[in-house]
Amino acid sequence: MMAQYLRLKADHPSTLLFYRMGDFYELFWDDAEKAARLLEITLTRRGQSAGEPVVMAGIPFHSLETYLARLIKLGESVAICEQVGDPATSKGPVERKVVRVVTPGTLTDSELLSDKSESVLLAVHAGPRATCGLAWLSVTQGILQLAQCPADELRAWIVRIAPSELLHSADVTPAFEQSLQELQRQWPALAQAGAGARLSLALRPAWAFDPALGERKLCAQLQTASLAAWGAQDLPQAHAAASALLDYAEHTQGRALAHLCQLRVARPQELIELPATTRRNLELTQTLRGEAAPTLFSLLDSCQTGMGSRQLKRWLLEPPRDRAPARQRLQAIGTLRAGLQAPLRLALKGASDVERISARIALRQVRPRELVGLVQTLERAASVSAGLQQGLQDQTAQQTEAIPASLLSELARELEPPAGCAALLQSALLPEPAALVRDGGVINHGFDADLDELRAIQNNCDSFLLALEARERERTGISNLRVQYNKVHGFYIEVTTSGLDRVPDDYRRRQTLKNAERFITPELKSFEDKALSAQERALAREKWLYEGLLDQLQAHVQALGTLARALASLDALCALAERSLTLEWCEPEFVAQPCIEIRAGRHPVVEARMAETGSGNFIPNDTVLGQKARLQVITGPNMGGKSTYMRQVAVIALLASMGSYVPAQSCRLGPLDAIHTRIGAADDLANAQSTFMLEMTEAAQILHSASPHSLVLMDEIGRGTSTFDGLALASAIASHLHDKVKAFTLFATHYFELTEFPASHRHALNVHVSAAESQGRDIVFLHQIEPGPASRSYGVQVARLAGVPAAVVQQARHALEALEAHSASAQAQVDLFAPPPAAATPEPSRVELALAAVDPDVLSPREALEQLYLLKKLL
Ligand code: ADP
Repeated sequence: MMAQYLRLKADHPSTLLFYRMGDFYELFWDDAEKAARLLEITLTRRGQSAGEPVVMAGIPFHSLETYLARLIKLGESVAICEQVGDPATSKGPVERKVVRVVTPGTLTDSELLSDKSESVLLAVHAGPRATCGLAWLSVTQGILQLAQCPADELRAWIVRIAPSELLHSADVTPAFEQSLQELQRQWPALAQAGAGARLSLALRPAWAFDPALGERKLCAQLQTASLAAWGAQDLPQAHAAASALLDYAEHTQGRALAHLCQLRVARPQELIELPATTRRNLELTQTLRGEAAPTLFSLLDSCQTGMGSRQLKRWLLEPPRDRAPARQRLQAIGTLRAGLQAPLRLALKGASDVERISARIALRQVRPRELVGLVQTLERAASVSAGLQQGLQDQTAQQTEAIPASLLSELARELEPPAGCAALLQSALLPEPAALVRDGGVINHGFDADLDELRAIQNNCDSFLLALEARERERTGISNLRVQYNKVHGFYIEVTTSGLDRVPDDYRRRQTLKNAERFITPELKSFEDKALSAQERALAREKWLYEGLLDQLQAHVQALGTLARALASLDALCALAERSLTLEWCEPEFVAQPCIEIRAGRHPVVEARMAETGSGNFIPNDTVLGQKARLQVITGPNMGGKSTYMRQVAVIALLASMGSYVPAQSCRLGPLDAIHTRIGAADDLANAQSTFMLEMTEAAQILHSASPHSLVLMDEIGRGTSTFDGLALASAIASHLHDKVKAFTLFATHYFELTEFPASHRHALNVHVSAAESQGRDIVFLHQIEPGPASRSYGVQVARLAGVPAAVVQQARHALEALEAHSASAQAQVDLFAPPPAAATPEPSRVELALAAVDPDVLSPREALEQLYLLKKLL
């Protein structure tokens, strides 16, 4: 047995091997020690192998899922090895096989997956000429994505894709490997993947990354001769990554991924860029502290299904630059708002996760109860589809001019369940089947004549036994004779001591008890054989029928995938419609000329929190950014609402771009290609970079990548260094954004000097958050954005509000007055925005000096040539 174990283990060196032995999964040696440490299970030593005691640890088979969940969460992978041979007939150890490998990026069990997020597996390939290929998928989703990028953008790509597991070639350069490990260390802070989230790295052999093989595999997977239809034909590095990806995914599932039938090529220029910093600063899916709520997503997500939530998250994080999809969604939301949304949401409630179930059908891992859930959801989808079509018709009838609700009618069509699928499931499965096929009690009555017959034998048991008992009592005259059954001894006839003398000859003794004897008769024995074998055969038949059912269901997998996506989209649209009504949002308008115009905009998350805690009303603010007014210098006291205002503009622009209504009275939005943010000095411990270095790195990235169609938020840039340094840098950065980048910029600063900026820059203007001083001492924040620079910064008042001791406040006030008096008497203010003076005439070089000394008129040709050599040497 140990030899068998070692053979299996050799195929899975870096994976914990769960080796099935009876009712336990056992781990041995290093695996056992690791598992004992991670799972806090007992380590034991038994027997000997090669002269050493065998170190082992085991878990009961029925708690597999719990232990798996814990290990996967810790970033481990587990190979599950089952007994596949028949213990009764096998000589030596039962045949065993690894039936699947569970890894963080290839999870399919609903118990191990989060409802609201995908578990993504990504393969990266470092190709020639600093080009990288990427291929990724979620095993439960059925879409494979490809991309290629320059090596220096790889990190940003990985962060954006946010995989749970990353595959790379075993022979990448040490530098490449190091950068991946660094990424792994910084992962929780970077990927917005939730506290405790991990990135698992998995090495694959170099030959697994083969472009030609990858292309062939992709064609086979999509059943096509060329990838041109997807524009995916000329991406050799991505093909190489895809070959490793598919290979690994198939290896873990133990079969091909039949449901994977969609391909997408991710082209960054098609999406509005949302760098990791922006996702973090805007708290899109995670708060700055790493919590899931309150965030923009947690506010938006009133979906009824996990599928809807996942779809909504994708819409939020991947808004396209092209406005067509957003327009379609907005139109659909408009239609849903007019009465359809509420009944549809009611109908969607409790729908099962068709997307994951259909993937699990394709992978033949689906459980009976999931299929029963699927039947109910299919029935519901049919009625949702009908209700939606009816609702659309009614609405059209009420309109004087026909409105084409194209997206919704398309969804209604896609929601029609595949013909025959529900009927097949209903006829095949009991309404309340057992959890696992191996327990039996799954296949419906009347589905299979053989099974019914086998079950009938079992059911007839009781009446047969009663009849037998009556007959034997009569025949023997033993009135208290009983026919019974137990697991160990099977069927028997029990006779108490008082009746023993009347026991007939054909009774054979089975067991002797204190006051009774147990017997068996030939008739009972033959019945026993029949009954027990009927039970076994019924179980085997059920398993076989279930496999057959899975075969038949394969034909529906693609249609179920389409239906799942339609359900998800409808759920997400209904959630957006509901949110827009509940939170009083308006429909944004897209225009061709670059602008961001918002009337009475609000920050939805801050507003919701204020409503929840009853801490006053949110003050709405207008924003007008256009060709003529591209950069706002925002001043005002700390806590005045600068950063809330800036974020609200970004959040509204993002919501509009994903096709949602927005928290404002009106919103007009021109083209948008990116939202960049440089906010806050939250210490980035994970990055172990100095705050100032980080600040400048982020600023540099923005200055390099922003365009006239980008929205840039700059909060307190320059704060991380000395005043003059900071001020100088802040003004230089503002100038560059204004003059060169020409992005729409919101520039909040505590450098009062920057309010001079608009005077010398035509497309910039000052705004400030208003505050008032009550009784000359305390400050009241009005949170209203007003034109012009702030009159003062109220730092001392804020300190007082924050509870700084009175004596300190007093001294600060005093010092401030002195400083202000001093600066008033000082002479001309430094002009921060004057262009730097042209550099003074530079020192002459050695060549120039030598050349100046030469008098060409007195040189012979030979001397001239020598001079030339001399000059050349001086270079
Ligand atoms: P600053 O960036 O100027 O320091 P913040 O934007 O962080 O200020 O705002 C400080 C607090 O003021 C917020 O937490 C919020 O509670 C409140 N606040 C900000 N803007 C508004 C607003 N428009 N209406 C109501 N309260 C607001």
